[in-house]
Amino acid sequence: MNRTRSEALFEEAKGLIPGGVNSPVRAFRGVGGTPFFVRRAYGPYLEDEDGNRYLDFIGSWGPMILGHARPEVLEAIQRTAADGTSFGCPTARESDMARLIRELVPSMEMVRMVSSGTEATLSAIRLARGFTGRPKLLKFSGNYHGHGDSLLVDAGSGVATLGIPATPGVLPEVAQQTLTAPFNDLDATAALFHRFVGEIAAVIVEPVAGNMGCILPQPGFLEGLRALCTEHGAILIFDEVMTGFRVALGGAQAHYGVSPDLTTLGKIVGGGLPAAAYGGRADIMARIAPSGDIYQAGTLSGNPLAMAAGITTLELLKGMPGLYADLSRRSARLASGLVERAHAAGFPATAQSVGGMFSIFFTNEPVTDYACAKRADAALFGRFFHQMLDRGFYLAPSAFEAAFIGSQHSDELVEETLDAAAASFAALR
Ligand SMILES: *Cc1c(COP(=O)(O)O)cnc(C)c1O
Repeated sequence: MNRTRSEALFEEAKGLIPGGVNSPVRAFRGVGGTPFFVRRAYGPYLEDEDGNRYLDFIGSWGPMILGHARPEVLEAIQRTAADGTSFGCPTARESDMARLIRELVPSMEMVRMVSSGTEATLSAIRLARGFTGRPKLLKFSGNYHGHGDSLLVDAGSGVATLGIPATPGVLPEVAQQTLTAPFNDLDATAALFHRFVGEIAAVIVEPVAGNMGCILPQPGFLEGLRALCTEHGAILIFDEVMTGFRVALGGAQAHYGVSPDLTTLGKIVGGGLPAAAYGGRADIMARIAPSGDIYQAGTLSGNPLAMAAGITTLELLKGMPGLYADLSRRSARLASGLVERAHAAGFPATAQSVGGMFSIFFTNEPVTDYACAKRADAALFGRFFHQMLDRGFYLAPSAFEAAFIGSQHSDELVEETLDAAAASFAALR
């Protein structure tokens, strides 16, 4: 595959933008090589600057569950833009969005819109600390909650891909307030509650981990977190920036039947434009200014174009009753099919999937937490990634990221992907 134009563009970008990218994982550091530059996208496909086409398993890292350039979404953005793109005044659309979110995710009794997932988690944590009057935060190793200072401790996604142990610029006194436990380890979580009695403001968790590859919660884990938080008066925050409207229409909390106190949303909620949200129990949310004393604000929060794209996306998802069953079936087929083809070629592999997300790990051991994920063969993942890319299939350029499918990934495309995987593994033998 010829990527000379992308290569030239990347060279130029490296002199202008740190690492040539505006978000680290885009740079292919986890798999080697140079990233392709995208010219346009449609349905399940990306097209690069050299005219190559790829079946896209990233979907802009989550948002594009209905495919790229979805006509209804484009039309809503264009129609809305004609009336102005930002007002800094309240609009009816913001209540439409809040109502829709509350309908789909009932634990979100009140909702505040922000512009990124990072902003949503930062705001939710400030709120939890303000509400409880406690300093500490408990998170799980390998979970990623955006790039806020207190959340970069032992983080997943690009931090995991680049193997960055601690980020210079995050003050030790801030990092010290973040406690970590292994994902799926209730005993370690309970031990931290007993060691720091009355100090833990919140537990924040990706209810399905997606930023160290896709790792499912073990039965009882989310229920156990709910019980521990209730017992110790801490706020349970489900970071559903990735899982919201992806694992099920009501997110992981609907799929697993566990209700958090606060939820953060992003990615799909903006329909491909910058929007995110946090919300939850009305008594907690009432503490946010101006109804309460905990400050949080945003010039572009509830932006009309982002609301139009997000509302249209959520309404379309609402109108597709079989979608999540299809996504689950297809992601399960991809997961098991990839493992079979890896094994057939003599490579170790295991995979997990739920709703529209899945991951393959190159190890035969079960993967339940970050330590397990790190034991998988990341170098083999890099070689497999490039084999697939050269065949026109774009997986996440890191062993520590989940893959996503959407409504446009048909059964035929799933089978094409598995055929390409068989050829890729054969080439790697
Ligand atoms: C992507 C992600 C974030 C950060 O969202 P941004 O919009 O990139 O700031 C936070 N939490 C989770 C679980 C995510 O997957």
